[in-house]
Amino acid sequence: MDTLVVHGHNRKSVITVGERPLHAGDCLPQERICVVTDARVHQLYPGFFESCDPVVIGTGEQIKTLDTVALIYEKLLEQEADRAIFLIGVGGGVVCDIAGFAAATYLRGVRFGFVPTTLLSQVDAAVGGKNGVNFKGFKNKIGTITQPDFVWCDPSFFHTLPTREIRSGLAEVVKQALIADISLFEYIETAVQDILSLETAAMRRLVLDCLRIKAGVVSRDETEQGERRKLNFGHTVGHAVEQLSGLAHGEAVSVGMAVATALSVRLGLLPAAALTRILTLLRQLHLPVALPAPADKIIAALGQDKKREGDALHFVLLDALGHAVVREIRLTELHTLLLDIFKETF
Ligand code: NAD
Ligand code: MG
Repeated sequence: MDTLVVHGHNRKSVITVGERPLHAGDCLPQERICVVTDARVHQLYPGFFESCDPVVIGTGEQIKTLDTVALIYEKLLEQEADRAIFLIGVGGGVVCDIAGFAAATYLRGVRFGFVPTTLLSQVDAAVGGKNGVNFKGFKNKIGTITQPDFVWCDPSFFHTLPTREIRSGLAEVVKQALIADISLFEYIETAVQDILSLETAAMRRLVLDCLRIKAGVVSRDETEQGERRKLNFGHTVGHAVEQLSGLAHGEAVSVGMAVATALSVRLGLLPAAALTRILTLLRQLHLPVALPAPADKIIAALGQDKKREGDALHFVLLDALGHAVVREIRLTELHTLLLDIFKETF
């Protein structure tokens, strides 16, 4: 069992990596709890919900709405939940984002914790305090930054995940390694087969190392004024690619990381050999690196990026394997640079 702490502005969050408790209710004895999960997780792990009567929401990104949050508020009202209530979200990033937002807003905020069940939610979504829902087709438009009291990560949940969900999560793992930890990157290079077969020690190491990285970044910059932006490595082009193709989020981030690395090489920040190494690893993990949509469409979609500020974007680049830098690049300049790269590399 390993524990880590995220220091938020008004609350600390304790993260545990290890075997989960027997039942969701055992996460927090004594207190009045309300467990939120999704239909898939509920069906796969019935024993985990034995001692509680969970709020079961549907599955998928399309249920990340205010209507689903309202459903949780209604259940809380039904059970006459007061400020002593403690919400526990058990599921992937969708459950964590919704349950966290419901908890952060019900009665102006009650305490909550997560048992994340996907690779992506253990290494990314459950940690850091961001929560929220989509609104009118815009992703994560409504939300808060509120730290959960606890996050309990048990990698044995991964065994029931579809392969594509695993790969999607692995893209975020590679991202964390690339922005902050060369030794994690080197470890992944040597352990590809163990990772793809979900070997326990390998998955545990990935989760723990990623959590250390994210907990550190968030503790230093909870509200994304600077360093937290580095977590968006691969996401600028990734989001554009995700919108334009049928790729899953992590797959699109993989393409985005390939492009951002090529851009780092083009700007003279990184040797070309590093690009080759990254592309090789992504391919070994069965992640895509080629553009799945025409270059001009991708460039046009970049102009719609929500992190855009005026006519510039904060673009995350690498100046070494395991080290990221954020550069403000004007959209016109980015356009020219990307056209070059798309011609040469992709
Ligand atoms: P998800 O929650 O939709 O889970 C993916 C699928 O896997 C779902 O169908 C789910 O029912 C199923 N599932 C969950 N656990 C399972 C298990 N152990 N075995 C089998 N199936 C299981 O998606 P996700 O990839 O976990 O998370 C994506 C969401 O996370 C997005 O909405 C994204 O915006 C959000 N996110 C948030 C943050 C943040 O900082 N708050 C960061 C990254 C992503
Ligand atoms: Mg992401």
